[in-house]
Formats: sequence, C-alpha cells, structure tokens
Amino acid sequence: MSDTEKPSGPGGGPVAAATNFIHAMIEKDLAEDKYEGRPVITRFPPEPNGYLHIGHAKSICLNFGTAAKYGGRCNLRFDDTNPVKEDTEYVDSIKKDVRWLGFEWDRLLFASDYFDRMYECAVKLIEKGAAFVCDLSADEIRAYRGTLTTPGKESPYRNRSAAENLRLFEEMRAGKYADGEKVLRAKIDMASPNINLRDPVLYRIAHAAHHNTGNKWCIYPMYDFAHPLEDATEGVTHSICTLEFEDHRPLYDWALAALAWPLPPQQIEFARLNLSNTVMSKRHLKALVDQGKVEGWDDPRMPTIAGLRRRGYRPEAIRDFCERIGVSKSNSVVDIALLEHCVREDLKPIVESRHVVTDPIKVVITNYPAGASEELPIENNKDNAGPGVRRVPFSGELYIDGADFMEVPEKKYFRLFPGNEVRLKGAYFIKCNEVIKDAAGKVAELRCTYDEETKSGSGAETRKVKGTIHWVEARTAIRIELRMYDYLMIDGENGESVLNPASLTVKEALAEPALAAATPGERFQFFRRGYYIADTKRAGGAKKVFNEIVGLKSSWK
Ligand code: ATP
Ligand code: MG
Repeated sequence: MSDTEKPSGPGGGPVAAATNFIHAMIEKDLAEDKYEGRPVITRFPPEPNGYLHIGHAKSICLNFGTAAKYGGRCNLRFDDTNPVKEDTEYVDSIKKDVRWLGFEWDRLLFASDYFDRMYECAVKLIEKGAAFVCDLSADEIRAYRGTLTTPGKESPYRNRSAAENLRLFEEMRAGKYADGEKVLRAKIDMASPNINLRDPVLYRIAHAAHHNTGNKWCIYPMYDFAHPLEDATEGVTHSICTLEFEDHRPLYDWALAALAWPLPPQQIEFARLNLSNTVMSKRHLKALVDQGKVEGWDDPRMPTIAGLRRRGYRPEAIRDFCERIGVSKSNSVVDIALLEHCVREDLKPIVESRHVVTDPIKVVITNYPAGASEELPIENNKDNAGPGVRRVPFSGELYIDGADFMEVPEKKYFRLFPGNEVRLKGAYFIKCNEVIKDAAGKVAELRCTYDEETKSGSGAETRKVKGTIHWVEARTAIRIELRMYDYLMIDGENGESVLNPASLTVKEALAEPALAAATPGERFQFFRRGYYIADTKRAGGAKKVFNEIVGLKSSWK
C-alpha cells in the first residue's frame, strides 16, 4: 500500500503519512517479499503486572497503527511468563485500555498458552547440544559471567551429555528441585563481547501458581527465550520493542536460528517514551498505589491510561500526542506540556463553557430593579457555533471570583477594583462604587451599578472596558467541588524526581445552575479557569465533583 492511499486509522480517520524508520524497514521487507506474501503482523505484548501507562500508549499506537497502515494485523498478547507478579485484574484493565484508545486486536493471546510448546523447544535445544542444565547458584552464575572487559568462565556443568540434561530438565519440570537449585542455560559463548550471549538462562524453577496455568508448571521460561518463541509462533513479522532490548536481539535471533525457525520475525527497537514530571514504570506506579500515595491506579494524577481517562483526557488527544512525538532511535524526555497542548486542542472545539467561581465575593447591583431577574443568552463555545447558546440567570445579586477583585489594584490589573468598570461576561458593564467589609475587615460585598445600555449582544457598545469577568447569580448558584492537580513528580533539591506533596488541591466553588445536570464523565470549559470533567467515581454525592483536566494556558512552544 502506498503512502498516498491513506488507509483509515482509529475511528475511520486517515493514519499519518509520515513515515518513520520502522515503516521504512517494513516497506523494504514488503518490496523484497521477505515474508513470502504474509501480511505485516505486529503485536502489543504487555506483561500483566500493572496498569498501562502513557508510554504503553506509544507502543500501542505504533504496533496497531503500523499493522493498519500496511493492511496487516496486530495481536494483543499477554506476556505472562512470570507467575508471581501477574494478575487477572491487570489483564482486564489492559484489554479495556487498548480498546478505549481506539484499537481492536486481531487475536487475543497469552504467552502462557505456549508453555508446552516452549518446553518442547527447550528439549530440542538440549537434544542439539545447544542447552544444558546448570547447578550453579544465581550468585555463582553472575560471578562466572565476567564483565564488559573480561570474558566469562564456563560452568562446570556445561559439558553434561544431552541424555543427562534431558533427564535433569524433566526432573526440574516434575518438581524434584527447589527454586534456584538448577536452571536451563543456552550453550553459546562465555567469551562473547555481548554478555547476553554468555550462556544465558532459558528456564528457571519457580514453585508458584500461575494466574492462567495454575500449578501445572514449576519451571518458567525467561523473557529472552519466551519472547522470540511467542512472536514466531504467532507468525509475527515485525517485533517492535524498546531500545533496551537492542543488545538482546542477537539472543532473540540465536534462539530462532538454533531451532531452524523458517522466516523468523525481525526485532526492531525504538526509543521509549519518557515524559517530564512523570514516573513511568509499572513497578513505581504500583508502589504509589500500594503505599496509598494516590487513590488507586486510576487516580487522575497518574500517568496510567485509567488515570488519564478519569482525568478527562480523550483517546483522540493521546493518539494525537503519540503521532506528534514520532518514533526514533535515541532516548529523550518529552515535555509534558506537549501532551497537555494536545488535550487542550482536542477539547477546545467540542466542550461547552460554564461559569464557576471560587473564593466568591458577593456583588450587589444597586440600580438593578429590586427582586427582578432575567435569563441571558451566553455562547457555549466561542470557537464553535455548533453548541449554540444557553440561558443563564442574572439578577442584582451575583458572585464573582475572588481573583477578579482587588481593593488596591496592582499595575495592569484590569478586573474589578473601586471606581473601575468591567464587563460581566454575556451581561452588562458594572462599576464598583463601594466596598463593604465584615467585622474582621474582610471584603463582604461590593456595591456596584450597572449600565443597561451595555447589555451584551444588544449592539449598544457605548464605550470600551479592558476587563471581562464571569459571574454566577446568587440565588440560583449551586455548590460544587473542584479537584485541581499539579504534577505528580517534581524536581527535588538535588535534581532528582520526587513526589509532589501539593499535587492535589480540593476547593469548593459556586457554579451556574446548568452544571446541576452534568452527567458523570461530561466535560466542560469552566470559563477563564480550565477544562473540567464530572468525576465518574464521586458521582451521586451532595455536591458534584469536577476534576481539572488541563488549564487554559499553554506553556508549550
Ligand atoms: P514498565 O517498565 O513500565 O513495567 P515494561 O516495558 O516492563 O514497562 P511491558 O508490559 O513489558 O512493560 O511493555 C509492553 C510493551 O510496551 C513493550 O513492548 C514495551 O517495550 C512497551 N513500553 C513500555 N514502556 C514504554 C514506554 N515508556 N515507551 C514506549 N513503549 C513502552
Ligand atoms: Mg516489563
């Protein structure tokens, strides 16, 4: 398929024509018919030991997107070869998150379904004299391995006969030995400059129940042996993984060559996503959850897909972000401001605006007819006429945001202060004439006058004012809760990444009455404040709870 044909991406939209080095490799393979007419087959292979994060989204977009681009297929395969850390809760969450991102797998697979096959492959290697059972302890194996500058030392068990190795391996499987007592190792080259080729461990003993196979097995294959077999068994053509596996590729290739696998898959490495102000490893994220530092895997501050979803990010924004960061061979750190920029761009044309004020200050319009009220039409989205207007109640008693009044204005402060006139969004110009304070000296009320001639939309623009502020009508306003977020991780004193102690701020606010009808998961722009979503987990309480999705101002250049 040529780049100009524009195959469809998630949701039927076009996929990027921008070609990266991986696509260039695939196009070369297709041109040479390397896989003898087989379609491009990729896979996304998470280990079900945690929830997916934004880094995984990059891999998902790349694997599923690449298969779609070349008319191929992508499997979702759970790399569940480690019995101890894995859980079906994670399996379910991963499936949900991949679908939510907008992708559908061709086949749903579990590496543990291939345990019999992997065992047979190991037996084959033993029979060929390419693997042996070793009795060295883990520490001894490490000591024998050598260093980057010195060759390793051969294990004294290296020259066991194939028959003896077969018997011992069968005994390992039968449960005769304790964890760590024996391992199966590849017999490659203890002097190889690539340490991964110095007789790496292929199988280890672990007397542990597995979430899928239960107690059937007490030996489990190591990642470096299991992964090429999983890929090859599924007919994967291009096995895309992150850069740290580059040095493992010779072992990947060795295993398939030793088994004389026809048309083995090609492993291709790319740089993993690193994001500023973010911790991005399942192990660390799990620790935050287990230690109660966050509410759970879906805490809106978490970089997990579940967290970003609850935060209010849409899959469209995440896919856009993954496309913009591209794919490269060199590690770097992406500024989280780019992700936020994508979120803002995604929401800007689609969400409706609402008025919400915090630290409210009461405004009394002394010349507004006593007891009167009206409903003013206010645009729902200033960038998009589609959502039309809503009617917002207005009267002579309002609340404005505490940040929109200063008794003694600083330089360039164009909002309300004594003697100044501002526009109330969608309503009238008001002028502050008097500041009423309570016994403690705190501002309790602002006495203002309005000019009926300045009604928004009436066309009667008699004069200009510099500031426009928003407001809610006092009698009809509802109380809501805002949950506002700062980054989860910040730079510590020595430049290291530390947990931000102030990543969550909870604040009560007053909102225009329309927000009473907000449904869980509904998104809004709170005028002049930011994008918010009605929380899906705290729905149904006395006060509606809204999570801050992202602020309005971009720091992305
Ligand atoms: P973690 O260290 O967060 O547990 P992992 O690499 O161990 O990540 P896996 O479940 O093994 O997690 O990953 C599944 C796939 O996602 C792998 O192909 C892996 O390379 C890819 N992946 C993981 N993290 C990133 C990232 N930050 N950027 C891009 N791809 C990633
Ligand atoms: Mg892993």
